[in-house]
Amino acid sequence: MGEEAKPRLARLRSRMRDSEVDGLVVSAPANIFYLSGFRGSSGALLITPDRAALFSDFRYRLQAAEQAPDFACTEVERRLLDGVGRVAGEGGVRRLGYEQGHLVCGRRDELAEGAPDAELVATSDLVEGLRAVKSPAEVERIRKAARLADRALAHMVSLLCPGARERDIALEGEFLMRREGAEAAAFDVIVASGPRSALPHAETTARELQPGDLVVIDIGARAVGYCSDMTRTFAVKSAPPEAREVYGLVYRAQRAGTAALRGGAVCGEVDAAARSLIEEAGYGEHFGHGLGHGVGIEVHEAPRLGRKEKTELAPGNVVTVEPGVYLAEMGGVRLEDLLVVAPEGARVLTGSPMEPEIPIV
Ligand code: ZN
Ligand code: ZN
Repeated sequence: MGEEAKPRLARLRSRMRDSEVDGLVVSAPANIFYLSGFRGSSGALLITPDRAALFSDFRYRLQAAEQAPDFACTEVERRLLDGVGRVAGEGGVRRLGYEQGHLVCGRRDELAEGAPDAELVATSDLVEGLRAVKSPAEVERIRKAARLADRALAHMVSLLCPGARERDIALEGEFLMRREGAEAAAFDVIVASGPRSALPHAETTARELQPGDLVVIDIGARAVGYCSDMTRTFAVKSAPPEAREVYGLVYRAQRAGTAALRGGAVCGEVDAAARSLIEEAGYGEHFGHGLGHGVGIEVHEAPRLGRKEKTELAPGNVVTVEPGVYLAEMGGVRLEDLLVVAPEGARVLTGSPMEPEIPIV
């Protein structure tokens, strides 16, 4: 983190001023990592106008100092947030912000007990709003994760044949990503075949592929703390006419969504650019999820490309564009690329080819 920590803290402090808090307790692990570099499972940050402190316990003594060199590290024996609250109170914080989307009631109470004289203020998206715009170095990490998934996908495609099990194909993909340097899969690799491909978030099973199946593969890697996300759809040995038609439709919708990306574009309008094609073709009710989502430290983060979403895209946003059509009898088709938004368009970070016609393997 090092050189990235200072400008991030400066931007966060400006957002804190806008929210009228003179202290902020950061408890979401992804936000802690973004601001400080700390990756332990138990920790919290206290940010004030002149202080940046990391609180953790003795298990992380060495790790905290190493990963978060810009933060004053404090060990707390138990009741972490009580300790954070005490330091905030003693430092004279009057309005102490906390992340309402991440702090369960019991831990909020702990914080209140530690800082009885401070007013606790619920905040949302103070750090997430910063994370949505990636620096060139962050984009490079995401691209690295995308490359690992590209290589894994190519290997998985070579294994697609009648009799192959979904689970074995997923495992091969994950193994390859890890062996080539991924810290982990960004999420459980999805290999969904036949009727199971109609489930947008299918679990991978022991089902064996059969001729005529559609196969949806959704895969991402995590490298240097950052995720990637990509989906491709294939047909095993042959594809029925409706599957070819639906694939072509999803492909055109994916291209239309991608073409609508640019700095200043409204998220809901990008969604509509893709969705309108699917609706006009009569498949609107079979595309039941948003067009895409931000990707970074977490695989789902801001901004959301959803219906009627009012947020405007900014250069540096990294988002997926992933329309899908899911039919109970035929199965599903989803195509997903990862892109970084630029002032006048977007650059694709996914390296795997996206065929305009369904690839038959
Ligand atoms: Zn995905
Ligand atoms: Zn996705």
